[in-house]
Amino acid sequence: SMASPALLMRVVASAYSVAEKAATIVRNVMAAGDLGIVEKTGANDLQTKADRLVQMSICASLARKFPKVTIIGEEELPPDEVTEELIEDGHCEEILKKTCPAQYTGIKEEELVIWVDPLDGTKEYTEGLLDHVTVLIGIAYGGKAIAGVINQPYYNYEAGAGAVLGRTIWGVLGIGAFGFQLTEAPAGKHIIVTTRSHSSTLVNDCISALNPDSVIRVGGAGNKIIQLIEGKASAYVFASPGCKKWDTCAPEAILHAVGGKITDIHGNSFQYNKEVKHMNSAGVLATLRNYDYYASRIPNTVKQSLVP
Ligand code: AMP
Ligand code: MG
Ligand code: MG
Repeated sequence: SMASPALLMRVVASAYSVAEKAATIVRNVMAAGDLGIVEKTGANDLQTKADRLVQMSICASLARKFPKVTIIGEEELPPDEVTEELIEDGHCEEILKKTCPAQYTGIKEEELVIWVDPLDGTKEYTEGLLDHVTVLIGIAYGGKAIAGVINQPYYNYEAGAGAVLGRTIWGVLGIGAFGFQLTEAPAGKHIIVTTRSHSSTLVNDCISALNPDSVIRVGGAGNKIIQLIEGKASAYVFASPGCKKWDTCAPEAILHAVGGKITDIHGNSFQYNKEVKHMNSAGVLATLRNYDYYASRIPNTVKQSLVP
């Protein structure tokens, strides 16, 4: 008989369906109109009913199937009973058909850490910039981001009625990434994508030092990685603390699966073991190509201001 698919592939296949359910919740909460906004550390750090429901849905759905996996979600929630209607138990057949890379076939549940950002770009969600929003499920093994799912619930929303709304991008190191068209950024142009709602003097000074041809300011770490892999921007530069491990894990796995690179502003790679500090204190630098061009031009004064 056929051997059952490797654990990693079963987790990614389930995460795909769980992320699609999450996207439905994100759209339903917005359509119902009551966002239930709560300030966490301040007015630029928000949580909505969608962040809460989606985290419950993702974490409970994955924990039910993979009880020994460590799952770390962004939101701190009371240990409420999760209602059955929030549980997704489907999976993506297409993912199960892919061959698991040999170095990952022996992975056990206890060795996986799943980083969940139920809604990345919450500030933009509350402001109606809906295509900035993503749902992020990142999968780490041995401290490395090895697989990830990014769902963009409002992809295509400007195409109007009749267009299919939303998409799911997934990737595994050694297999590749799917659900989008990999596109190179314009050759010879330096287009930087960065935050729109968490800027600072340091963030802007760092960008100026890179002498870009243009700067795109959009919400969400997931959204900014999509800008890189679809050729809209050549580098994601964020010289500030604020971004956390659940923001970078899924994007990192997908970017690395297609040959890109993401580090902090010093060039240190991110670690995703369960004991790691959540904050990416030394910012983010990511590219699909030409990483060294940008890394070599980050000013020392900026580096000295950001302690890992
Ligand atoms: P942004 O590029 O501003 O959308 O940030 C990317 C991710 O990092 C989002 O999840 C933000 O909520 C988070 N983030 C960045 N800076 C901050 C900050 N100063 N306070 C809280 N969250 C932040
Ligand atoms: Mg986020
Ligand atoms: Mg979030």
